Amino acid sequence: MSASCIICGGGLKPYLLKNNYVLQRCTLCGHICLSMDEEYRSFVDRYYRKEYFTGDQSRAAYENYEHDKPYIQANMRKFLRLISGFKPDGKLLDVGCALGFFVELSQRQGYDAHGIDPSDYAIKKAKKLVGSSLIEKCVLSDVSKRPKSFDVVTMFDVFEHLSDPGKDLETVHALLKDDGIVVIATGDTASIFAKILGRRWTFFSPPQHIHYFNRVNMATLLRKKGFEPVLWTRIGKWLSLRYVLHLARTGGESKIAEYLYRFVNILRLGELPLYLPVRDNMVVIARKKKI
Ligand SMILES: [Zn+2]
Repeated sequence: MSASCIICGGGLKPYLLKNNYVLQRCTLCGHICLSMDEEYRSFVDRYYRKEYFTGDQSRAAYENYEHDKPYIQANMRKFLRLISGFKPDGKLLDVGCALGFFVELSQRQGYDAHGIDPSDYAIKKAKKLVGSSLIEKCVLSDVSKRPKSFDVVTMFDVFEHLSDPGKDLETVHALLKDDGIVVIATGDTASIFAKILGRRWTFFSPPQHIHYFNRVNMATLLRKKGFEPVLWTRIGKWLSLRYVLHLARTGGESKIAEYLYRFVNILRLGELPLYLPVRDNMVVIARKKKI
């Protein structure tokens, strides 16, 4: 177990218990993290299998990622609009590309887009969707791309899954061209929604989510690793009714949601689109500084 904060070196205190894991909080900067006993690689191999994307309750992850493609891409279009304000074209790497939905979308928009992901299941699907040459099965530390070759590196709903986000930011820094940008979308522990829900906030989801940030400590980490934040925002999200109830019954530990989930499935209403303006997330675009 790490004894100090990865961002500021402050002391850690137990913060909450969820899914039988203890999350610890830094007494100085408020960064929250899960200390993993298991070696990260073996965890990744064991965890991100097909069931992760197809509704295994114990994983509290995606209900059916493939079927929810229209909603996922609707959210991704918002990211793309933000990115185009800084980089309207160029070479892009989507880290944790899952089934390749963002690679597909940004290719269509004119980017030379590539993706990496550690999941065998996801990689097979992504290669089928966008072509084998654009997708690589690996984690950031093993990426085979050339240094200073990308204009944009995106990490959507990925940062919280990394075992060492500081080290991975160093890799991103090396992969980016001198004026390149990194785009991170993750949860915000300082959001009103997170504060109201406390331990029932669905984003508190160990062991898949390891690191939990607010804007202040995220900015500190980015600056420490050679980036300057140039845009902060939040987005509301489109989700299927089925996925919202799945999140509430697993991550939110709601019994009512469990019954509703079954009811909705019987009535075949799971596909209904819901717009959730909860804005419990942060989207940050940061530009590479020379270090
Ligand atoms: Zn700290």
